[in-house]
Amino acid sequence: MELPCKGCRGACCGPVPITGPEVKKIKKKIKSMPVKMRNELKNQQRFYGTCIFYDQDNDKCGIYSARPAICDAFGHYANLVCFRKPEAVKKEHWSPKEEPAGILSVDFKWEHFE
Ligand code: SF4
Ligand code: SF4
Repeated sequence: MELPCKGCRGACCGPVPITGPEVKKIKKKIKSMPVKMRNELKNQQRFYGTCIFYDQDNDKCGIYSARPAICDAFGHYANLVCFRKPEAVKKEHWSPKEEPAGILSVDFKWEHFE
């Protein structure tokens, strides 16, 4: 079931747990971005607490194809309910496949990915 994310402006994009392989995947994604695009994403003004990769200007995840598994799972599990579409929950409990290495936006900031 699709979530009505357009117009939400990253309402649910805050700090999320992230694993070692996910950090690596995002690093690869960031390094593959054209420098201008990367700098534009990096230097956007965000609210305190908003994910460092949220693309405010375009109202979407700035690293969508490399986003952590929890972001992909959000809205579809009973412990990750989207408040705008709670009926999208189809599964019970989401948990990471491996121990998180830390929290994105708190332990891992832009300087860790460039
Ligand atoms: S998952 Fe829900 S809260 Fe998050 S951006 Fe989409 S509609 Fe908004
Ligand atoms: S990585 Fe993308 S989807 Fe996940 S919290 Fe950050 S901006 Fe949102």
